[in-house]
This record gives sequence, C-alpha cells and structure tokens, in this order.
Amino acid sequence: MKIEFRKIPLQETEFEIISNSVKFLGTFSKISSKLAKISSKLSGNYDVDCCKCGITFDIPVDTDIEFLLSDGIYSSQSNDEELVIIEVEDHFLDFNEILHSELESLRSEYHVCDNCKTNDNLVEIEY
Ligand SMILES: [Zn+2]
Repeated sequence: MKIEFRKIPLQETEFEIISNSVKFLGTFSKISSKLAKISSKLSGNYDVDCCKCGITFDIPVDTDIEFLLSDGIYSSQSNDEELVIIEVEDHFLDFNEILHSELESLRSEYHVCDNCKTNDNLVEIEY
C-alpha cells in the first residue's frame, strides 16, 4: 500500500495491512506540507531466530507505534523520543516498507527460544 506524500489527507484516515501473520493498522494524516504522522498498532506473531541454537520460532507482538514522516530530510531541532522518524525519499509513503522495517528491527533484537531458556535453567540448577 503506497500513497503519494502530497495526497495524504489532513483528516485522520484509517489503514490496515497484513504481512504474514502481523497486522499493521491505525490512522495517518498530514500535519504540514512536509510532515505527516501515523498512529499505529502492530499485532500478531512474527518469526525470529534463536540467538543460541538458530532455530526459527514465532513470538507475539502487540505494540503501539507513533511515526512522524518527513517528505525529504527531517530538519526539526525538537527531538521527540516518543516518535519514530521516517524520512520519505521518493515522495511516496509506503506502508509495507514501514511494516517491513519495523519487523526487521524487532527481529534484530536478542531472542532465545523456549528450549534454550529451559536449558539455561537446568545449568543454573546444577550450580
Ligand atoms: Zn534456541
């Protein structure tokens, strides 16, 4: 799902996309000619790799994310920690790309499968 930046409506507009088993939904609207925002929710399950044994398993995600979108380089001095800043390079807001990059950053976190967690507990008991 893509929308041209200048065509983003001023009023909050609903969107919903699904990738594999993760749902990405919420509202988006334009703040100024160069800024837009997305209030969104990610929910579902996504695949990650265990950092110990490498097995792929899925874990649930249920999180609210606020994005600030800038058409071009984001130049504001105010740093709002609550917001994820996205610089749109080709004047198109691409929801699939946003979802994809969010899932990539979730995947890059440290994940341990249940099996390895259990083994860790066993080691601790032996001590
Ligand atoms: Zn593991």
